[in-house]
Amino acid sequence: MNNIIKLDNNYYIEKLSENSEIPINTVNICHLSLIKVLKNKNIVLKIDFEEFNIKDYKRLLKKLLIVKNVAMKINGEFGIIEKEKKIIAYAINFDENNMKHKDFISGINAIFYKTRYERYNYIYDTVCNYLDSFFYGKNLCDFKNNKCGEKRNTTSTTGCCHHFKHKALGPLSKLVLCEYLNKENYTCDAKCLPCKLFTCDYLESKGVKFKIKDILLLDVFFNPIQKYFIKYMVFTPKDKILKRLMKL
Ligand code: SF4
Ligand code: SF4
Repeated sequence: MNNIIKLDNNYYIEKLSENSEIPINTVNICHLSLIKVLKNKNIVLKIDFEEFNIKDYKRLLKKLLIVKNVAMKINGEFGIIEKEKKIIAYAINFDENNMKHKDFISGINAIFYKTRYERYNYIYDTVCNYLDSFFYGKNLCDFKNNKCGEKRNTTSTTGCCHHFKHKALGPLSKLVLCEYLNKENYTCDAKCLPCKLFTCDYLESKGVKFKIKDILLLDVFFNPIQKYFIKYMVFTPKDKILKRLMKL
């Protein structure tokens, strides 16, 4: 059905036109409050993309996360069943070609995961996929004869996948290949989000730079210390990064 947005965990958002009649038990996401949710067990949100703008996204999602967590604890549920589907929201003026609208829906999707770990796992994979598709087929690093643009005049054929490893004894350190670099096809076996976010001077000179505050899912769901680790835990596999984020 094309008037339905399927989320994970068997939740759905129904798309309505502006003139549609909105069912009565609906709470506008812009006026969401704990009291409203606690009074009303089978709450459905109204999300009208014309009623708020991008600078409201973070505030609205943060509030929804709190309200949803309390509602689930007290009421045990959220949304209504319509034609065997759990509808949690009606979306009005949603434009599926608008990346910002889609990002907001991804934020709602993240909120309706049951556990914090599952939510982080979803956010991690979604942002990795976004970054992979951003680079896919573009050769932004300008690899030629296995040398990237930044390392063109050096002997390095591994892009930025090497780092200094301190020897156990002595102050000298040695430049080594990252242990997660697949030596056969030069791909990363670690799914390291901080590495994917990294942009060197060469990429930045081409206007490619990623800031955590510009990536809605990262900006909304992580605190400043978690963001620090998301930025700097390079050369690290996904499971270790998620473990660290869960502790913070
Ligand atoms: S990000 Fe920079 S250093 Fe790393 S592979 Fe690309 S061009 Fe080379
Ligand atoms: S973890 Fe980072 S440095 Fe290591 S292979 Fe993957 S992208 Fe390269």
